[in-house]
Amino acid sequence: MMHLPYAEQLRRKENQVRALLGRYGKVSPILGMENPYHYRNKVQAAFKRLPDGRILSGVYQSGSHRVVPVDDCLLEDRTADAIIVTVRSMLKSFKIPVFDEDTGRGVLRHVLVKRGFHSGEVMVVLVCATPTFPSRNNFVKALLDKHPEITTVILNINPYQTNLVLGPGERVLYGKGTIEDTLCGKVFRISAKSFYQINPVQTEILYGKAMELADLHGTETVIDAYCGIGTIGLVASDRAGKVIGVELNKDAVHDAIANCKRNGVKNARFYCGDAGEFMRDMAHAGEKADVVFMDPPRAGSSREFLLSAVKLAPKKIVYISCNPETQARDIALLHQNGYRVQAIQPVDMFPHTAHVETIVLLSRA
Ligand code: SAH
Repeated sequence: MMHLPYAEQLRRKENQVRALLGRYGKVSPILGMENPYHYRNKVQAAFKRLPDGRILSGVYQSGSHRVVPVDDCLLEDRTADAIIVTVRSMLKSFKIPVFDEDTGRGVLRHVLVKRGFHSGEVMVVLVCATPTFPSRNNFVKALLDKHPEITTVILNINPYQTNLVLGPGERVLYGKGTIEDTLCGKVFRISAKSFYQINPVQTEILYGKAMELADLHGTETVIDAYCGIGTIGLVASDRAGKVIGVELNKDAVHDAIANCKRNGVKNARFYCGDAGEFMRDMAHAGEKADVVFMDPPRAGSSREFLLSAVKLAPKKIVYISCNPETQARDIALLHQNGYRVQAIQPVDMFPHTAHVETIVLLSRA
């Protein structure tokens, strides 16, 4: 959306949220980003060898696998961009062939870089079709020489014909295999495969608002559903009686448990599983919760989750979403089942793109 002035982008996003959710209540002014550039702390590049031997790195054009070259991007972390350009420039001399999706031959598929905004720690993930490749160790050494800011290098093995960037297998080639970052005064460990919010500056604003809306008093039982590495639940833990987190991705749950210990949090437990099934089991067991934070992926939540949430009957549901369309669908169901919208707060997590994040506070009528 860079063709629009930033203020106009914000206005459009706010209007989009109003069109989808406005019938449930007043939409608060969107919280924009003060300096909305170079915010993306996670950058992913695809590689392509042209018939003349030149190698491109960048992003896929939407709806295709044509690689659009990107050397630097106004949205992305500068260090991450520079590392990707360096990797590309080293491929020829190290004779590392780029993977070819049509023939299934070659080695390097993607490079993923994650950077801790506060820690400055940098993770480089080399996504390869094979577990080894010529001069692997020398390649890593040379990369570290050129970018001493890199704190860990991971080889991710993805031999499959798939649209997913990361494969299941992973080997740490250098460093500890994770990076750390600080959010709202807590330290978080992040793995290659764990979800972590991509705009750390706005994430603090998002979580701050979510906490304000939840208005915890130190005694509540809080559920953090779709918890990722446990960020929301651990930020809430100081103000809650007890926190229960649930997340499908195994690596993310491991991170959440490590993050719990790392921050000396004693009142939080994290479970691996489908959030809908977990809520159903809690409702069957007759358990209670006072506040449910939910932060599902773009596809939104499930009927099972929402109807079980209704059975658990928390006083408040704080629904955070990066897709107001599925959020509106889910809120319609909660509304039919007795919940009322008390606040709608859009936050601009993704400046210059069409995406918008929205927090909706619901309470039992
Ligand atoms: N609340 C976290 C993560 C939000 S992203 C944060 O703010 O960082 C959504 C998360 O939901 C991802 O970590 C994803 O792995 C997880 N997820 C997706 N489907 C799920 C399901 N059915 N049950 C539980 N977690 C799921």
